[in-house]
Amino acid sequence: MPVADSPARPVLPLRAELAGLHPYGAPQLDVPVLLNVNENPYPPSAQVVASIADAVTQAAAGLNRYPDRDFRALSEDLAAYLGTESGVALSPEQIWAANGSNEVMLHLLQAFGGPGRVAVSFAPTYSMYPEYARDTSTGWVTGRRADDFTLDVDHAVATIVEHQPSVVLLASPNNPTGTALPAPTTVAVLDAAARVPGGCVVVVDEAYGEFRRRGTPSALELLADHPQLAVSRTMSKAFGLAGARIGYLAAAPALVDALRVVRLPYHLSAVTQAVARAALAHSVELMAQIGSLRAERDALVDWLRGRGHQVAASDANFVLFGRFADRHAVWQGLLDRGVLIREVGPDGWLRVSVGTPAETAAFKAALDQVVAS
Ligand SMILES: *Cc1c(COP(=O)(O)O)cnc(C)c1O
Repeated sequence: MPVADSPARPVLPLRAELAGLHPYGAPQLDVPVLLNVNENPYPPSAQVVASIADAVTQAAAGLNRYPDRDFRALSEDLAAYLGTESGVALSPEQIWAANGSNEVMLHLLQAFGGPGRVAVSFAPTYSMYPEYARDTSTGWVTGRRADDFTLDVDHAVATIVEHQPSVVLLASPNNPTGTALPAPTTVAVLDAAARVPGGCVVVVDEAYGEFRRRGTPSALELLADHPQLAVSRTMSKAFGLAGARIGYLAAAPALVDALRVVRLPYHLSAVTQAVARAALAHSVELMAQIGSLRAERDALVDWLRGRGHQVAASDANFVLFGRFADRHAVWQGLLDRGVLIREVGPDGWLRVSVGTPAETAAFKAALDQVVAS
């Protein structure tokens, strides 16, 4: 085919702010030990698999119909679960669910962000937040966390006063640092947000909430007094259902009603709703497993500190550690030994997810070799 004769390459009218950008995502490599995306290392038990399969069979028989648009039964189950997990009584009207908490947070930005508005977060934090802002044409402002990755209250309040955001995004426990927010810090942010003239929604992303250490509060406890608060959770991490794509939030009913406006019709499939409800019926068993992952996390922190590494205090199912003059070399050395972790966070730091005892042992052995080499 003579090149000169082919028609001109069509011009795609890509939005200018997307030009040259690459899609977000950690490398998905085929490696024996995967400790890079904070998944639960344990697959669903045989009983959970059987319950999910039964529920999906039942749902399949009705797939000629659209699903319950308002996923009422699922909201009841999620409210009951959060009540048991956190001790905070919630009604189904306070629950919103979507295909992963990433979609929940996109809904929040679609409803409360937009052109001419600003969203604020504090780095280092979850790298998807600026993408929700970009995709909804919301202005983006990043404050900073302190050297120990906690949130400095005065800086956070000053950032809100200066930029008058309509959305503040706070991860607690924070990814990639594992840092949870003390209640007084969250309350100070909520109070500053309440003084923004046009209103400001504060999103506390508790994707890792179930892994918090004893004595660390959940922002769910603050919902009753703060109508502009949304607490986001997910079934991807503690529940071991990353593949099912189910996230949710709890907030005042008026805030939830605003999200109904921006969701796509029937966004939560009947299959997704069935899977989530079947898994939630096993939440007691899953909570026990979370206890053992928490203990593994604490032991990993101690081991890393014992080896002389710097380790960020963690309320999550991962640990940020360092600091390495050449962190990429350490990451690569681990990968060469079959262990995939994540090169993320401030320079010099690496993040490792808590795996099974065997996976953690493989990580420790590999790290000792890499550091010694
Ligand atoms: C993993 C993670 C999520 C969860 O995303 P899903 O879409 O629910 O899988 C949300 N926030 C943070 C900070 C995370 O690390």
